[in-house]
Amino acid sequence: MSLFAFSCDNAVATETPATATVTTQSAKAPRGVVENVLTKAEQDALTPDMVIQSFKEGNVRFQRNDLTARDHSEQVRASTYAQFPKAIVLSCVDSRVPVEDVFDRGIGDIFVARVAGNFVNEDILGSMEFACKVSGSKLVLVMGHEHCGAVKAAVDDVKIGNITPMLEKIKPAVAQVEYDGDRSSKNDAFVHMACESNVRNTIARIRKNSPILQEMEANDEIKIIGAVYDMDDGSVDFMN
Ligand SMILES: [Zn+2]
Repeated sequence: MSLFAFSCDNAVATETPATATVTTQSAKAPRGVVENVLTKAEQDALTPDMVIQSFKEGNVRFQRNDLTARDHSEQVRASTYAQFPKAIVLSCVDSRVPVEDVFDRGIGDIFVARVAGNFVNEDILGSMEFACKVSGSKLVLVMGHEHCGAVKAAVDDVKIGNITPMLEKIKPAVAQVEYDGDRSSKNDAFVHMACESNVRNTIARIRKNSPILQEMEANDEIKIIGAVYDMDDGSVDFMN
């Protein structure tokens, strides 16, 4: 329901993009604090490579504990009736992966889809199509992470309640890993290979099962890329 509500808001805002721009300086906000949110004109001017570059630079600030100061109250008011995010990120639900912070992004900057093991199903694909085709985002980023419990559970063929069918979405990626050593979750090297395989498999599924996103990528309107978040230092390793 909320998707359709957003869609209507976007349709209205597309006709009147000026309503999304707030440039008035708040009396309370310290100097240098970001109050604006991304406008349609700013989103239109972006290329997928520019978005990737902004993510890389934001991740460096995250690693340096130098996140951009934002006036969230002003940003909430500035984005009430419209949003023009630059990307959609598919992440695991893991509490140790704060997606917006990892890329130093704030309100109105990115869509975030989260499911344990960062795989795609029909609903996630629909969310990605909404982000790119309807809302104008330029990038689909599939981000796995080190020491992922969902990947480890898939590796160990865990069976518990609804977790069992969920892991079925990840297990094909585990099976695709060519490795003759210890294929258990005790082996960090194998778990990492399974994590990367899962990201690549998710990207392949996006291209295979979303003709809309595949066509947008072929037309250079978007890029679909993968990455792995490093738990040790907060860095993001972009895979392609
Ligand atoms: Zn995880």
